[in-house]
Amino acid sequence: MFPFLLIVLLPLSWRISASAQPAQEFLHCLSLRFHNSSSFAKLVYTQHNSSYSSVLKSSAQNLRFTTPSTPTPLAIVTPLLASHIQAAVYCCRKHGLQVRTRSGGHDFEGLSYTTAYKVPFVVIDLVNLRSVQVNVEKATVWVESGATIGELYYEIARKSRTLAFPAGIGHTVGVGGHLSGGGYGVLFRKYGLGADNVIDARLIDVEGRILDKKSMGEDLFWAIRGGGGGSFGIVLAWKLKLVPVPANVTVFTVSKTLEQNATKLVHQWQYIAHKLPKEIHTSIIISRVNSSENEKMTVQASFTGIFLGSTDELVPLMEEKFPQLGIVKEDCFEMSWAESNLCATQCPVGVSLETLLERSQKSVLSKTFFKAKSDFVKQLIPESAFQGLWPKFYEDEAKFASMVFVAFGGKMEEISETESPYPHRAGNLYSILYVVDWEEEENKNSKKFMSWMGRVYNYMTPYVSKSPREAYSNYRDLVLVQEAATSCFWSCLSSKPRALVKKQARKQKTER
Ligand SMILES: Cc1cc2nc3c(=O)[nH]c(=O)nc-3n(C[C@H](O)[C@H](O)[C@H](O)COP(=O)(O)OP(=O)(O)OC[C@H]3O[C@@H](n4cnc5c(N)ncnc54)[C@H](O)[C@@H]3O)c2cc1C
Repeated sequence: MFPFLLIVLLPLSWRISASAQPAQEFLHCLSLRFHNSSSFAKLVYTQHNSSYSSVLKSSAQNLRFTTPSTPTPLAIVTPLLASHIQAAVYCCRKHGLQVRTRSGGHDFEGLSYTTAYKVPFVVIDLVNLRSVQVNVEKATVWVESGATIGELYYEIARKSRTLAFPAGIGHTVGVGGHLSGGGYGVLFRKYGLGADNVIDARLIDVEGRILDKKSMGEDLFWAIRGGGGGSFGIVLAWKLKLVPVPANVTVFTVSKTLEQNATKLVHQWQYIAHKLPKEIHTSIIISRVNSSENEKMTVQASFTGIFLGSTDELVPLMEEKFPQLGIVKEDCFEMSWAESNLCATQCPVGVSLETLLERSQKSVLSKTFFKAKSDFVKQLIPESAFQGLWPKFYEDEAKFASMVFVAFGGKMEEISETESPYPHRAGNLYSILYVVDWEEEENKNSKKFMSWMGRVYNYMTPYVSKSPREAYSNYRDLVLVQEAATSCFWSCLSSKPRALVKKQARKQKTER
């Protein structure tokens, strides 16, 4: 079916490239609007600049989109002022160039710094716009989109140990893309998503106007809080409501292999996790390891959690709700809420809070080659389905593969699915994030890793949400877009053009 789709798409993409104005005209337009020529030289990079490539790659997290065959922008603009963004938007429109906005560069499909459709484009990188202004008395903060969530958490922590913001865990993630798609982390069962706690925003629209909540209107303010980054304008800054947390929270991790009853525990966790008090966030990371007993390959489930309270409260609570897991005091560590965010990568026993300010870090989802997908689970998955899943982790491609289950429930049950564009609310037991990583030298065989991911995703079909099968917009997955386009191609065509396409295909076949 794909060749037919290409027949329709190719003339369109050709027309866009052929009518595109060269970079020179865009740059001339921009220089006139920047007024100050020295700031223009420092803030705009073209392919002739020696630092173009390093600036482009600086925050690109999925190295799959940093290879020589990846389409690159005509220019990268790194604004210092809102007026620089206005100028870039104006000049892109004038010269028929697309805009890619980049905050933290974590888009799973690289859509903030490349294009899937080979159209000429310019990257507006907000790396210089990252101020964070905390108001402790009012429990609010204005944060610019180019800040990372780590920088946001750090500034909040500098002002108060008992205030927090309920966004994601990966501290290198950019505020701009993250809040645009929802943003969930350890506090979402208690306080909802990051996007649920946005109270105002400053946005530059396609006309270059700067709008706030009042001037953009209810619909646009609704859309930018979860509708997906890069869709409705460039959000310059967000006003957020801060939430109370105890001065100390408790973090725990308990890891079990298949030989230690992991299958049964994962199965039981499904019954319990979404019903736990809102103050407990739990997740499971599943990956392949070598058994410490016999060095044989096995699957390990790491149960991790954060509790808004002390170890002395948590241990009896878990003993009552999930005794099979067997949490003891020694599995628990107390720390500030800001520090607990570092536990996803390196638990802060001796790690400084300044680690939150590091903008680059290698993990399964950053500074590596990867493919990721997502699912939502609404019905308990039978134990036998997990048993059928584990052998996939023994395949060659799964050396660096993982699945992350994140328990829903709590506040997410209370927010209506139309309150914001993020619809995955009541009725979800947990979400699944699938990740497969590979090394640079394996990238020429990336198809085999993509295919492994496809097989696992297909295997999970009977057990996850259906009609539609849901996915999280912040976990961007262009395979879904291609599949939707392919299936729509036939159902969306009327019978006459369908007959024409078939005729053309038959003709091509006979010519071959
Ligand atoms: C290591 C890692 C950890 C993660 N952890 C979590 C997590 O704990 N919880 C969670 O919910 N998600 C998580 N994510 C997913 C993350 O929320 C999304 O990838 C998010 O879109 C990244 O935002 P960004 O600004 O870093 O990315 P970018 O690549 O800069 O942007 C992502 C998209 O948003 C658009 N965009 C960027 N800035 C703006 C702006 N200012 N205005 C309008 N559109 C904009 C871009 O054009 C692009 O389409 C994680 C991702 C990674 C790679």
